[in-house]
Amino acid sequence: MRFFISADIEGVTGINNWDETNKSHPDYAEFRKQMTREVLAACEGALAAGAKEIVIKDAHDSGRNIIASELPREAQLIRSWSRHPYSMVWGIEEGFDAAAFIGYHSPSASGDNPLSHTMSSNLVSEMQLNGELCSEFLLHAIVARSHQVPVVFCSGDAGLCKRVKANDPLIETVSTNRGVGNATWAIHPDLAVEKIRAGVEKALHKDLKQYVLKIPQHFILDVRYTRHASAYRSSHYPGAKLLSPTTVRFECDSILDVMRYILFCV
Ligand SMILES: [Zn+2]
Repeated sequence: MRFFISADIEGVTGINNWDETNKSHPDYAEFRKQMTREVLAACEGALAAGAKEIVIKDAHDSGRNIIASELPREAQLIRSWSRHPYSMVWGIEEGFDAAAFIGYHSPSASGDNPLSHTMSSNLVSEMQLNGELCSEFLLHAIVARSHQVPVVFCSGDAGLCKRVKANDPLIETVSTNRGVGNATWAIHPDLAVEKIRAGVEKALHKDLKQYVLKIPQHFILDVRYTRHASAYRSSHYPGAKLLSPTTVRFECDSILDVMRYILFCV
């Protein structure tokens, strides 16, 4: 079995503040370590379920967060950014049996995580896909699905886990933090690791053909930018139009085109 993991940091256990996500800040070391531990736990769960090869995309900020020497030998690590539109799951198009998302977080304009954002915390104040708030999980899970890779597991804040379950109740989730205003209420980091290991193993023991994440046939992407000038600029992307001074709509029929818009306009 070939297993793919995409890992972010804003949904790892206990994280609360942007300083803790930022390589240049002393608070970062603790959460880089926890991100690595949670990815390792997912690897161990996958190996226990029979995975022979694991590819991990480090998908936070610089893409250089996970400590490779702490991973099992079966794991390969993709660091930094190719700039392919598949972004946080680049590599998945090469064919995998299942995928997991670790350390993921609620979308922009959601109150469920103090670090809620979608693809850019500076440029985007809200992103909707087909009329619903759009998370980084949703975008990249659709990419995985479009390559016939079932999405079987997600860990992150409670708000995101609820969205994931609404999309496919079969997906195993582990809720690490509950966000309220600027606060987070977290489980113990060791408990999170145990639950992720067990959750991934359980997810992979299910019939992988039964995972049913839905792929829309048509995509309406509405991006509300934090600055009107960014919206004006992006409205010149082929097929995009300005809905209001700060909102751009882009319509298309493939997730690759959605991701391509995001690559150039977010
Ligand atoms: Zn991130």
